[in-house]
Amino acid sequence: MKAAVFYGTRDIKVEDVKKPDLKSDEVLVVPKVVGICGSDFHIFTGHWKIETPLILGHEFTGEVVETGLDVRRFKIGDRVVIEPAVTCGTCYYCNSIDSNNYFCENRPTVGFTQDGAFADFVKVPEKGLHRLPENLDFEKGALVEPLACAIRGSDRSEVQPGDYVIVLGAGPIGLLLTLLTRLRGAARVVVTEPNTKRREMASGLGADLALDPGKEDVKARSREIFNGRDADVVIEAVGSKTTTEQSFVLTRPGGRVCIVGLCPQGTPVAIPDSFEAFYIKELTIAGSSCSPRGTFERAIRLLAADRIDISNFITHRYGLDDLDKALTMIAGGKEPAIKVVISP
Ligand SMILES: [Zn+2]
Ligand SMILES: [Zn+2]
Repeated sequence: MKAAVFYGTRDIKVEDVKKPDLKSDEVLVVPKVVGICGSDFHIFTGHWKIETPLILGHEFTGEVVETGLDVRRFKIGDRVVIEPAVTCGTCYYCNSIDSNNYFCENRPTVGFTQDGAFADFVKVPEKGLHRLPENLDFEKGALVEPLACAIRGSDRSEVQPGDYVIVLGAGPIGLLLTLLTRLRGAARVVVTEPNTKRREMASGLGADLALDPGKEDVKARSREIFNGRDADVVIEAVGSKTTTEQSFVLTRPGGRVCIVGLCPQGTPVAIPDSFEAFYIKELTIAGSSCSPRGTFERAIRLLAADRIDISNFITHRYGLDDLDKALTMIAGGKEPAIKVVISP
């Protein structure tokens, strides 16, 4: 089969590889639409290290073409969306009281610890499969994974009805968090984003103010619509040292900082006046790094019920042969991409 194999920083080759053999609890899927995630981009540019060679691609929909002997819930021809991180079922966290796959010590993950979907075929454990509802096409379905991550971020933000909220960054995750923050009943939402097209999109999705952080004083401009106050909640959805540190400055005393963006590995973040931030300002920090069990089902329900509008999210489409071109385009940062997808 054909696959885009990642060998190391900025080195992806499309080549012929062996079609995967299935274990009894696995399913073979033909990927239809595969989103490029910020994490794929960090791996491609060398800002996050993984074991190589590996086929990337973890945000995807597809069709079942083969099932292992013990697979019961899915059959050939089923349209599916894949939850890439599954539980090992044996470690301390998988078996502890809160049974949260999020902290699984092994966490086998399609596209990170085992081959992903930038290929003609990908094998997935049955427990990582979800049925794609009839009214969701393969493209919309490819946004389930980022939406599930955003739902986790939104849960962790604990935004309350009536809150003043700032979302830093209007990439796909920042935009999804803007939608979810509105859905939670925030009184005002300010979004910061240097890219004009993304700012326009944030406004279209319900941001009350979309600011260019390079040109405007975010704190002062937010206060204009926050009744002179700082934000109750700041959600960081960029993944940079600057914006992570900025989150703490923009939050009111007693407020909450929610970090969803992925910084390059090992980024040293210095919280301004850190002791005072914890002690006097009593800030709460909530991190959110991916999509625990349950968030996928909720993401599918939200999309199937048409409760949030993601119709403009996919801005660029490429074939498998052009994966490195797509990643290089994103790295160049010149084109105002929202979500870039590959159709293998
Ligand atoms: Zn992702
Ligand atoms: Zn585990």
